[in-house]
Amino acid sequence: MSSNVSVKRLVSSQADFSQQLDTLLAWESVSDTAVNEAVTDILHQVKHQGDKAVMAFTERFDHLHVEDFSSLEMTQERLKQALDGLPAEQRAALERAAERVRSYHEKQAQGQGSWEYTEEDGTLLGQQVMPMDRVGVYVPGGKAAYPSSVLMNAIPAKVAGVEEIIMVVPTPHGELNELVLAAACISGVDRVFTIGGAQAVAALAYGTETVPRVDKIVGPGNIFVATAKRMVFGAVGIDMIAGPSEILVVCDGKTNPDWIAMDLFSQAEHDEDAQPILVSWDKDFIDQVEASIQKLMPTLEREPIVRVSMAERAALIQVKDLDEAIEVTNRIAPEHLELSIEDPKAVVSRIRHAGAIFMGRYTAEALGDYCAGPNHVLPTSGTARFSSPLGVYDFQKRSSLIMCSADGASEMGKIASVLARGESLTAHARSAEYRIKG
Ligand code: NAD
Repeated sequence: MSSNVSVKRLVSSQADFSQQLDTLLAWESVSDTAVNEAVTDILHQVKHQGDKAVMAFTERFDHLHVEDFSSLEMTQERLKQALDGLPAEQRAALERAAERVRSYHEKQAQGQGSWEYTEEDGTLLGQQVMPMDRVGVYVPGGKAAYPSSVLMNAIPAKVAGVEEIIMVVPTPHGELNELVLAAACISGVDRVFTIGGAQAVAALAYGTETVPRVDKIVGPGNIFVATAKRMVFGAVGIDMIAGPSEILVVCDGKTNPDWIAMDLFSQAEHDEDAQPILVSWDKDFIDQVEASIQKLMPTLEREPIVRVSMAERAALIQVKDLDEAIEVTNRIAPEHLELSIEDPKAVVSRIRHAGAIFMGRYTAEALGDYCAGPNHVLPTSGTARFSSPLGVYDFQKRSSLIMCSADGASEMGKIASVLARGESLTAHARSAEYRIKG
């Protein structure tokens, strides 16, 4: 029999509650000198030796030897074959999830188009929105395979109108994951290379003889991947450097405690560093959830990981009432928030910081991970204060449009001239002054 896990309890009425909360939430993003050095070397070699270096690192880290780089590319026929070979139930689930993710992101795209307006003197101003030319999607593949990551990263890019989507996924010992290849097929990925780690990020960022250089790299990965993304940022865009997964459940005490315990576990099983938190104003309910945690823990496949996450990073927080629960939520700015309460619509507008908000007792966060429709790539570690879920807008960029009429140029010229002379930029001033009507 495994022993009970001890989960931290915080009570908001305690004098040092605020400090306890700070300690609970403290998270240093990992930076490791040895990893930095290794990744710097990998990036340098791939930048200067291209395909040859990628092949050598693939052999060293993924134990996959190929004579020719073209063997590391999956053809569209191979992707289609993976889709056709799936068991019917898996194929249907993947297709249904993809449809839901696509339709959500198509809605999202509607508010993102170009716009312009004309001023009284005939000057036109506006904004032109264009998709990126080429995007790289990193799909992790070292320890597990993530077909849902393929859908969540590639579909918004496709909906945005990105011309070419290049996917990379490591295949240790050459073992292909058919679901991942099938997800690439369904999502409309253009080219797939079975490479991973920092060498794949470098190939996408700098381009090699075979792998085309992309404009932006998205997708999660381990510390080698995250470090490489951080280092190539500037040469290419990146989405974000994600921290460990988090879930915050706010519950009024009327949901089945087993459901809540399992919702907390669903994030804990990602990673020992994942952070599951329950906030409630019902002390008896917190006790019941704790009992469910102890009861259900031994039934979990990934118990060893969950146990560490629950012991090290989880918390059961008792607050005074719903208002205080909302206050604590806004302070935490969680990646995933479940509002497991009677009337979530009545309070949702008071949630100012959260990556995704799952409303009501039926809305398990896990549904959002796979198939509800909204993106599962979300801001972690409190960054929901200033950033948003991955979306169509991440694959577009905007150009400002300015078309001055003769009258408009004359009027603006007077303003620009004064300001430019104030900055001692006389060529600016004279350029504007030429257009002032005599
Ligand atoms: P991965 O694809 O990120 O990493 C595998 C690669 O790491 C290998 O190809 C290899 O090149 C490189 N590597 C391994 N050891 C190395 C070494 N000693 N030196 C240099 N390079 C080395 O796959 P993974 O390792 O399974 O990690 C996946 C990560 O992605 C996990 O941390 C997981 O939590 C995360 N993830 C996050 C999300 C999300 O939405 N936030 C989703 C899926 C996965």
